[in-house]
Amino acid sequence: MGISVLTAVAEASAYLYTVPIVGIELSKTGVTAIGILMILFLIVGSGFFSSSEIAMFSLGTHRIDPMVEQGLRGAKAIKSLKEDPHRLLVTILVGNNMVNITMSSISTTIVGFYFDPGTAVLVSSFGITSLVLIFGETAPKSYAVDNTELHARRVAPVLQFVEKLLWPLITLFHYVTQFVNKLTGGGPAIESSYLSRSEIREMIQTGEREGVLDEEERQMLQRTLRFNRTIAKEVMTPRLDMDAISADSSVEEAIAECVHSGHTRLPVYEGGLDNVIGVVNIRDLVRDAQYGGTDDVELQDLIEPTLHVPESKNVDDLLTEMRSERLHMVIVIDEFGTTEGLVTMEDLTEEIVGEILEGEEEHPIEFVNDDTVTVKGEVNIEEVNEALSIDLPEGEEFETIAGFIFNRAGRLVEEGESIEYEGIQIRVEQVENTRIMKARITRPEEGATLESEAEGGDDDHESDTNDA
Ligand code: ADP
Repeated sequence: MGISVLTAVAEASAYLYTVPIVGIELSKTGVTAIGILMILFLIVGSGFFSSSEIAMFSLGTHRIDPMVEQGLRGAKAIKSLKEDPHRLLVTILVGNNMVNITMSSISTTIVGFYFDPGTAVLVSSFGITSLVLIFGETAPKSYAVDNTELHARRVAPVLQFVEKLLWPLITLFHYVTQFVNKLTGGGPAIESSYLSRSEIREMIQTGEREGVLDEEERQMLQRTLRFNRTIAKEVMTPRLDMDAISADSSVEEAIAECVHSGHTRLPVYEGGLDNVIGVVNIRDLVRDAQYGGTDDVELQDLIEPTLHVPESKNVDDLLTEMRSERLHMVIVIDEFGTTEGLVTMEDLTEEIVGEILEGEEEHPIEFVNDDTVTVKGEVNIEEVNEALSIDLPEGEEFETIAGFIFNRAGRLVEEGESIEYEGIQIRVEQVENTRIMKARITRPEEGATLESEAEGGDDDHESDTNDA
């Protein structure tokens, strides 16, 4: 009887003071101490992963190669991790969630020794959330923001180790998350390039708003960004305006043509304008005519080579080529080899610095009032859109305002005719032969645009032509 009481007391005290952990009976005090130590260790882990996320993803991509070249410690690890940003993110998130959830389980178990289960869940959830927020998130993240580069170099080798350690788990989640992202419509990429063109464009606009850039600078920077989207056809002087000379003309005739046209260079053709063989320059013509010493100077001897480029050639490539070949004038041809126009260095420079006008030359876009401009037919649609903040279609088979009007009308137009496109009034002001020289464009008043937008869900961008 005495023995059985003793056994009962021993059993009861064992129940009160010990707990089975993976089948082994351990004292509650011991388990509590170990648990607290583990929580402290895990909170460090949580801070490590959170700060890694900030350090690794806010480190500018442009900094990585220079760091590797300088041989900085950890730089190579950063480079290799950043080669697969999705896998890197999965590694960090798997690590972070594992430590946070383990911490929460341990804490609930320990608190459960001393309180009933409901209270244990409440106390543990609140306690661990506060701990993680302060020591596992905000403090380490703020540190990583201030010390991005140094911290990234420190954590990268450890992250590589974690990636190896948890390889199966990370590989599994890597694929599962990619699959789920696809299902939910998200892209597989975690990180896009460091800075995109559109971000640069926004920065330029913000720059002007904040007074960091003035308007001229903003326009020039914007034009520079647009430069690589511009093609030769958009900047050329069209065939109809080309002043050229036949190869069998005399030097005097060529000088007279230069003076008459006001241009310093003339394309030289054999037979017809579709067979341009080179370019002459007034400087050489005058020098040879005046100071050549002989009477029989031939135009042929003064012809310099030029380049024939397709109308679709990008102007940034064209500029590089003209600079390296030291050419000031090139001939633009279409797909059939027909001469379309010419491009000079000035045409390319204007794309960046804006219109360069000489003497009496008229500005291609003149404001009549806030909502109306008169434009030369050869002006690009994009420029008119920018000037009036309107949205005439760009990138179709026509580049210029004249092309747009002609395309919409579907036939030759006469002076005084007008067309309308989404409330924008376009009136043909001047026509020479078949060519639209000038048009007047009026944008709709603001209220009118809103109204037509509200009405026109199925607006198919049709326009009407009506004689004025
Ligand atoms: P220039 O001062 O001799 O006219 P630029 O290179 O400064 O030559 O070009 C000014 C503008 O005149 C450019 O738009 C260019 O396309 C055009 N242009 C230059 N030479 C000719 C030419 N021979 N015929 C027609 N247009 C030309």
